Amino acid sequence: MRSIDDIEVAGRRVLLRCDLNVPLDKSGSGAITDDGRIRASLPVIRKLSGAGARVVVMAHLGRPKGDDFAARAAGGPSLRVVAERLGELLGGCVAFAADLTGPSAQATADGLEDGQVALLENVRFEPAETSKDDSERQGLAAALANFGDLYVGDGFGAVHRKHASVYDLPLLMPHAAGDLVTAEVAVLRRLTESPARPYAVVLGGSKVSDKLGVIGNLLGLADRVLIGGGMVYTFLAALGHEVGSSLLEADHIESCKAVLAEARRRGVQIVLPTDIVAATGFAADAPSAVVSAQAIPADRMGLDIGPDSSALFAAKLADARTVFWNGPMGVFEFPAFAAGTRAVAEALTKVDGLTVVGGGDSAAAVRSFGLDEGAFGHISTGGGASLEYLEGKTLPGLVALES
Ligand code: ADP
Ligand code: MG
Repeated sequence: MRSIDDIEVAGRRVLLRCDLNVPLDKSGSGAITDDGRIRASLPVIRKLSGAGARVVVMAHLGRPKGDDFAARAAGGPSLRVVAERLGELLGGCVAFAADLTGPSAQATADGLEDGQVALLENVRFEPAETSKDDSERQGLAAALANFGDLYVGDGFGAVHRKHASVYDLPLLMPHAAGDLVTAEVAVLRRLTESPARPYAVVLGGSKVSDKLGVIGNLLGLADRVLIGGGMVYTFLAALGHEVGSSLLEADHIESCKAVLAEARRRGVQIVLPTDIVAATGFAADAPSAVVSAQAIPADRMGLDIGPDSSALFAAKLADARTVFWNGPMGVFEFPAFAAGTRAVAEALTKVDGLTVVGGGDSAAAVRSFGLDEGAFGHISTGGGASLEYLEGKTLPGLVALES
């Protein structure tokens, strides 16, 4: 991959794909609740603008629905709030284009002077961005290409998507990888090529179906796999335990059994929680109690791993030399159910070795606990992208940048 240090950008228009897909307050204000991904994009923007480039940033936000730009824009979420936050962080104005390939984008791109930065509206307002039809995506890419002389790919969180702004656009123009993408790939390579041992993986989050692929591949790499979060209940069910009204993907029980059998065959230790914080329902103030992980009452829902499990997980991480963590141990957004996630996060800060946090929610959890981000080896900006890399899949955005 060519780096941005290898290209001449002064006075040139650079189409920069970033990942600015930040979580927004769901209770109405629409405010940005964690600006980690915006901050992670600052270095590349500063570097390009400092070198005299005219920077046109493209990014997506959420998963807007609708048949065309107008319908999707009416339903939001707009990147306007992100442009404002980006401007604050850069200490300067970021021009915002209210469309993607229309008159506003044209005027905004044309109006840029050397060193100035603009952000185009949500690329996913354009249905062609995510289209399965190659020619539709290529049409959008060709329209976007009008606004730039060069392409820089730095949206690591989207490189696993075969989308117009990620895959088709770099194929049309001279391109380079941004420093964030380069750094993320370097860390992932360390996790897959001769990692220091013991190598522990902690998996949590909501859906086991999202993570089965990566578990399969990690069984060939890791020495221990610790499982918590919503996905653990399908594993507990696979072992024949009652899980009450906890998150359960019944159609994946057999796959979990297969994972457990494969782990035994390979001598990989699977560590499951011994106790669970079980609540009467899914709510921040739901009454709860610590129960055995092997006997969750039928009318209770597991929302966090319990204190014994937290101690067990911390012990299993204490001597590790490589740790990859993806997915919170519980519903950390509710303070009453955040202790397990906090325990894992704190355990990672004490590891003498490479620690990598992957996953938007896991990274947001680390920041919400106020832990020093410098105490982690690497906090990835891309959950899905890092998982797919670790699954051994080819990532279209990287393929395009490598071409
Ligand atoms: P990441 O973004 O780090 O990859 P995921 O998106 O897979 O993580 O999962 C994060 C979500 O999982 C969080 O919103 C969290 O509330 C949810 N979660 C964790 N544990 C549970 C649980 N026991 N029941 C329901 N949801 C859970
Ligand atoms: Mg997530």
